[in-house]
Amino acid sequence: MNDQLGQSTLESDLHYCAVHPQRDTELRCNRCDRYMCIDCAVRTPVGYTCRQCVRGHEDKFYEGSAVDYGLVAAICAIGGALTPFAMMMIGGFLIIGFIVAPAIGGTAAQFALQLTKRRRGRYSGYVAAGGVLVGGLVSAFLLGALNMFTLLFLALATSAAYARFKVTI
Ligand SMILES: [Zn+2]
Ligand SMILES: [Zn+2]
Repeated sequence: MNDQLGQSTLESDLHYCAVHPQRDTELRCNRCDRYMCIDCAVRTPVGYTCRQCVRGHEDKFYEGSAVDYGLVAAICAIGGALTPFAMMMIGGFLIIGFIVAPAIGGTAAQFALQLTKRRRGRYSGYVAAGGVLVGGLVSAFLLGALNMFTLLFLALATSAAYARFKVTI
């Protein structure tokens, strides 16, 4: 331990953060190899990455194609359309709706994510939410179940679908 410490304090072995030149560090970005201090390092599932690389990664993350959006909208619309059905099945047990409705929205969004190989576009969340809402409204209208509770549960399903698409690294 002491040997290691002694060596790293040798002038020639010192490395400095690319963003904070006054801070010496031994951490390196696993993408661009630059030295970075602990404040600049972002922990990812594959190691430490500098903030600049993470940002670049996020930008790439946000290239949703029209096909992806179409798939997301279609799958979420199906999920939305199922919501009034589920609410009719539940009948008087409205309390169950508070659990089932977000589950339907979340599951539809999860399917959509898997089908689009987890490529989230910048607007995926809105597309998913819109899909659930429109699908649900059309379905509720056709079923003649367009009432306050259906709308409430649709809102829950919609926000659950939207939440599933929020980017979390
Ligand atoms: Zn980097
Ligand atoms: Zn730094």
